[in-house]
Amino acid sequence: MQINSYHRHRKLLGILTLLSILTACEHRDEQKNQPISEQLPISQTKTSTLTFSKVDGKRVENADQEPQNWLAHGRTYSEQRFSPLTQINTKTIDKLGLAWLYNTKTVRGMEATPIVVDGVMYITGSWSKVYALNAKTGEELWTYDPAVPGEWARYACCDVVNRGVAVWQGRVYVASLDGRLIALDGATGLVEWEIDTINKEVPYTITGAPRVINGNVIIGNGGAEYGVRGYITAYDSETGKQKWRFYTVPGDPQKPVEHPELSAAMKTWSTGGTEHKWWELGGGGTAWDSMAYDPKLNLLYVGTGNGSPWTRWVRSPGGGDNLYLSSILALNPDTGRLAWHYQTTPGDNWDYTATQHMILASLEIEGKMREVIMQAPKNGFFYVLDRATGELLSADAYANVTWATGVDLKTGRPIENPTLNYQDQPQAVLPGPGGAHNWYPMAYSPLTRLVYIPVHDLEFLYTRETPFEFKQGAWNTGNDFSKLANIVEELGVDITKTSGNGMLKAWDPVARKAVWTKKHLTVTNGGVLATAGNLVFQGSGDGQFFALKADDGEVLWSKTINTGIIAPPITYQVDGEQYVAVLAGWGGGGAASLFDPNLAHHDYGNDGRLLVFKLGTESDVPLPEKRHPEIPQPPALEGNEQQIAAGKKTYHRNCGVCHGLLVVGSYSIKDLRYSDKSIHDIYPNIVLDGIFAAKGMASFADLLEREDVENIQAYVLSEAWKHYNKQESIKSGAP
Ligand code: CA
Repeated sequence: MQINSYHRHRKLLGILTLLSILTACEHRDEQKNQPISEQLPISQTKTSTLTFSKVDGKRVENADQEPQNWLAHGRTYSEQRFSPLTQINTKTIDKLGLAWLYNTKTVRGMEATPIVVDGVMYITGSWSKVYALNAKTGEELWTYDPAVPGEWARYACCDVVNRGVAVWQGRVYVASLDGRLIALDGATGLVEWEIDTINKEVPYTITGAPRVINGNVIIGNGGAEYGVRGYITAYDSETGKQKWRFYTVPGDPQKPVEHPELSAAMKTWSTGGTEHKWWELGGGGTAWDSMAYDPKLNLLYVGTGNGSPWTRWVRSPGGGDNLYLSSILALNPDTGRLAWHYQTTPGDNWDYTATQHMILASLEIEGKMREVIMQAPKNGFFYVLDRATGELLSADAYANVTWATGVDLKTGRPIENPTLNYQDQPQAVLPGPGGAHNWYPMAYSPLTRLVYIPVHDLEFLYTRETPFEFKQGAWNTGNDFSKLANIVEELGVDITKTSGNGMLKAWDPVARKAVWTKKHLTVTNGGVLATAGNLVFQGSGDGQFFALKADDGEVLWSKTINTGIIAPPITYQVDGEQYVAVLAGWGGGGAASLFDPNLAHHDYGNDGRLLVFKLGTESDVPLPEKRHPEIPQPPALEGNEQQIAAGKKTYHRNCGVCHGLLVVGSYSIKDLRYSDKSIHDIYPNIVLDGIFAAKGMASFADLLEREDVENIQAYVLSEAWKHYNKQESIKSGAP
């Protein structure tokens, strides 16, 4: 924490002029501020005249009255990600250029939605860091580093990302990767309160953005691949005091339930008389991303995640739907009581979460206006529900789906494809655990009445792990990734080439079909923004930023960034000028699980930066230099075949989730094929002693012995040599 407070202190020196003109930023922590006020820099020349106005529920409810701002995660409580601004439109778009950029000096994934309040922008970056910027100039106002312990990265399935802050009554709320919820003074970045939302003995992580509803800060967590029990909690925005907690899955049946909804859920779980105890395996159901809110109904909608482990015959051998996994929950935000639920994937067996973005809208369906909630969860079906009652109105495949043949609208249940059950043998299934659509936010335009969905077709070979072996703090999915690696090799699949497809789909939720599709070069691409200028904005994994015509998908403008984009853009206005902002920096869930040669980072690295555009500027985006590295000659291979085989198994159980299947990794997380002798010389120090823990590579001494490390190293080297030899033979022109 020493480094953290030093950093904050240093940044504060830069905004003292700003502080002196503020009336709203009285410091509560005298001791913390004393040394700073003693060091007033005389030469400080910043002349910002920003005011830090307070956001409350009325302002968010009436967000359309102040379209210049982006006050909440999805701009409005309905989370449509639609802006009424029109200065940038189909006629003016060709004049769009770079207004300013801000370097975060990080190389990991960037997923945040910027928040803009009256000319002040708040973003988050890798490692849950917060940056406050002048939205007109990019001037840094303050930064805050929660000093997440680097070793906590081991518990993050999907990179050390963060999806943004919430603002409320002058405060900025951020949730850190290691499970803390922190309230900062919006003007200074000073900590007002901080609480731990997790039990540190269980590997929860937080990557999601908090929401504030009726003065309660709402936050969930992730970790369903690591053996956790999901929950969502509300805290008093003033004090951080816990108001309520909703567990998404039941705990030990011998103990009293924490709240009444768990009694109903309990009946849908069963050990089937076996020794499997879901409450010891965690159960899952983590609410790690999506929320939406209807102020009229006073209902908070929360999406829940997959089971822990993925496989239902391990998790609940006696069968059952396993409530409330992969569900949309409608909760009273004041009490945490459940109004209704809808489970998209009963008895989830495929890591099909329902944590994906949810949008509230009014749709005319069969001549009647319906207040709906819409979701395109991982399982490949687009759902439209009545959001007052949870009644299913429609569910249609928005991508290629093989696990189910459809959804029965009478029962609301999917019709599973029995031939693809992977209990007895591996099965290639669409979609895979990456989903047909993941967290990448969609957008809905009330003008075109279309939902814009970042879609990918990405098959996965589900391969049962037998016997299932639970290890606390390890990757526990019930799938055997070393067996999967063997099959991939036997099939002769070239892991350095991708076989998936990524696209932006414009979906008509009333006609229940796609209206247009824009194919991308890369499988994993960014979130979406729709505007009243008849535009849709989206970035891609190969480092392009696009503006498309919202009604027909024609690409009207694109800018080469050369940094992969997964984050969603936003738009706002300051002093009469409209801006479009997007974070660049590839990573997240796709960072390791998928190798895609078209991703920008292979050639240009992955420097995190916020890019902000406006009309009439001649400036262009400075492009990172090409720096595609060659695999260096690996050190001599010392392991024998037995060691390599053992190492392959151990690698895929413990390392592959981050470093990639068959040791083909990505830029943002170290690709082990590129390690030179200096790294191989200290393998045990890295893997067992944790000397790189601060960078995110924790010690695995709780799971691995020295012999395991030697085996892993032998396997990694054998793969590095394979790729090195191939590279050299291509260079020498050998056939
Ligand atoms: Ca998952």
